[in-house]
Amino acid sequence: MSEPLIFEQSRPGRTGVSLPEMDVPRRPLSELVPEKFLRRKAPQLPEVSEIQLVRHFTRLSQRNFSVDTHFYPLGSCTMKYSPKINEKVAALGGFANLHPYQREEDVQGILELMYEMEQFLKEICGMDRFTLQPAAGAHGELLGMMLVRAYHASKGRSPARVIVPDTSHGTNPASAAVSGLKVQVISSGGDGLIDADSLAAVMDDDVAAVMSTNPNTLGLFESEIRKIAEMAHAHDALMYYDGANLNALMGICKPGETGFDIVHLNLHKTFSTPHGGGGPGGGPVGVKQKLAPFLPVPLVQKEGERYYLNYSSPQSVGKIRAFYGNVSVIIKAYAYILSLGGEGLARASRAAVINANYLLNKLKDAFPAPYGERCMHEFVLSASNLKEHGVRALDVAKALIDKGFHPPTIYFPLTVPEAMMIEPTETETRETLDDFAEAMIEITREAQSNPEALHESPRRAFSRRLDEVKAARKPRLRWRENQ
Ligand SMILES: *Cc1c(COP(=O)(O)O)cnc(C)c1O
Repeated sequence: MSEPLIFEQSRPGRTGVSLPEMDVPRRPLSELVPEKFLRRKAPQLPEVSEIQLVRHFTRLSQRNFSVDTHFYPLGSCTMKYSPKINEKVAALGGFANLHPYQREEDVQGILELMYEMEQFLKEICGMDRFTLQPAAGAHGELLGMMLVRAYHASKGRSPARVIVPDTSHGTNPASAAVSGLKVQVISSGGDGLIDADSLAAVMDDDVAAVMSTNPNTLGLFESEIRKIAEMAHAHDALMYYDGANLNALMGICKPGETGFDIVHLNLHKTFSTPHGGGGPGGGPVGVKQKLAPFLPVPLVQKEGERYYLNYSSPQSVGKIRAFYGNVSVIIKAYAYILSLGGEGLARASRAAVINANYLLNKLKDAFPAPYGERCMHEFVLSASNLKEHGVRALDVAKALIDKGFHPPTIYFPLTVPEAMMIEPTETETRETLDDFAEAMIEITREAQSNPEALHESPRRAFSRRLDEVKAARKPRLRWRENQ
């Protein structure tokens, strides 16, 4: 089962390619490339045969969990299946061979697509304008905070604080801090929602924005959100919507109609780009009209039948990314939205919510459900009932790997001890949900009968249990040393 590095499999002279004979005269490299750019030493590349190469990377690809191979209920991350047709569409030559330096007249098609995408997102979110530039959710948040500062500055104000609830995703306070604002955390109420009184106690004219995820990371809809927005707006603070959880609300509720001024979406969670490997993402940011002048340039505009990139925007915060964002991700999201249609998006969200509630109700007797028996697209359970057997959420997560499931998110949100945050998504069958529930319940039985075995898990994975802190801080990347 062990897999040496490809460099260790290398043998001098072995090769996986054969090139045709040259059909042009041979010339020394130094005639073609300036001397200073020429290598002095040959590059150290592995020399392997084609079959070695194929086996090496195929084996490596099989070592991991993926949505294409396993159920992946990683709460907050929306690891749903992304239809392959959308990959195919994005790879069409007419899209894939475009270059950002092409003349506007020659790329009217992609400009039209981006223009229409903006109209779709405005409709879905109830916002007035969108930029498609940011490359990820946290990138969108950072832009959002830059817009907040630009908005206040344009009014000659410089409020310094951003309020985030204690259940917020870690990127929220991080983005606020990176943009130079001060973070103030407020505790949620006993029901897991933002507590209007706690918010009232800290609201004043020094608050620049309130950030909120709705449904929040406990999978609960902030039912007081309009009142919260009114409280913020009374001090001219802006409402920021972390839309990574939009999978619960598409076609059902528009954040713009519940008082939010800025939203970011994660195209790579909700709109059909697979994620988790750090690959290209999309974090479009939508705003209400009062913030539109500050959006990054360029925006795609339409004049008659012609589409163009508008760079003239005197109050713009500038550019947030090279060119226009990750265009392939925008194309996939566009294809996804068109293939489902408005009604289809709403059905997807309803199915996501039903699947989560189904699973919650199958598991609520096996694990404490601190926030009740109803949820939106995800829910949080606690593994605290297994503590008496010396078993923790980490053990449950590792035991799930042995049973063929990716673990849920654990120890987040921080407000729930031994938290396990589960998001099944709409793309899973009832049978898969039943199998997962059975595996979780079986683990509670094993916690009673044989807790030691759970501490040993995973036993059927390529890696046994790691010292995770050490693995992150001091990774040992050479295979031989790991033996
Ligand atoms: C994933 C996520 C983010 C961050 O998105 P990235 O694309 O990973 O930067 C922010 N907030 C919530 C609630 C998320 O789930």
